[in-house]
Amino acid sequence: MSETRKIGCACGQTRLELKGAPIVVTECLCNSCRAAAARLAKLPGAKNLLTSYEATLTADYRKDRVRILSGAEHLKEFRLTADAGSRRVVATCCNTPVFLELKGAHWLSIYLHLWPDDTRPKAELRTMVADLSDASKLPDDIPNLKSHTVSFYAKLLGAWIGMGFKNPKIAVAGTIDA
Ligand SMILES: [Zn+2]
Ligand SMILES: [Zn+2]
Repeated sequence: MSETRKIGCACGQTRLELKGAPIVVTECLCNSCRAAAARLAKLPGAKNLLTSYEATLTADYRKDRVRILSGAEHLKEFRLTADAGSRRVVATCCNTPVFLELKGAHWLSIYLHLWPDDTRPKAELRTMVADLSDASKLPDDIPNLKSHTVSFYAKLLGAWIGMGFKNPKIAVAGTIDA
């Protein structure tokens, strides 16, 4: 639990420190993750977040276990629509998407491409598979769930209890359009 890990954007200017293990590591197939990835991939120099079967890989971390070490001035938020509650935060030094923050969430879904290949956590399950028009291309190495399970929410709730039901605010330096 005391293990800390440092990860960062492609160019190295924006660095994060993570404490302990993630709450859960998932591959998301939902419509908004796929739409956001398609738009963020158009930013200059950006790499596409999606796997060959259009999954977005994230590790969910309690907000109080994530620290910005450097590059906070590069962090800008992207919303799919002006009134969207959820935001994706991008390191604009090299246009690397850093995390997804769902509206009201006490965790951040940190994109797995920030980890070097050899230390990247392995996804435990795929979620929101029902959003795909054709799910037959998905590998069957881990569970392919139509939506989210009770145990998934239980893990998130357990983390929030551990945080004393606090929800720290994550400040960013501005907004970005894509
Ligand atoms: Zn960068
Ligand atoms: Zn999603």
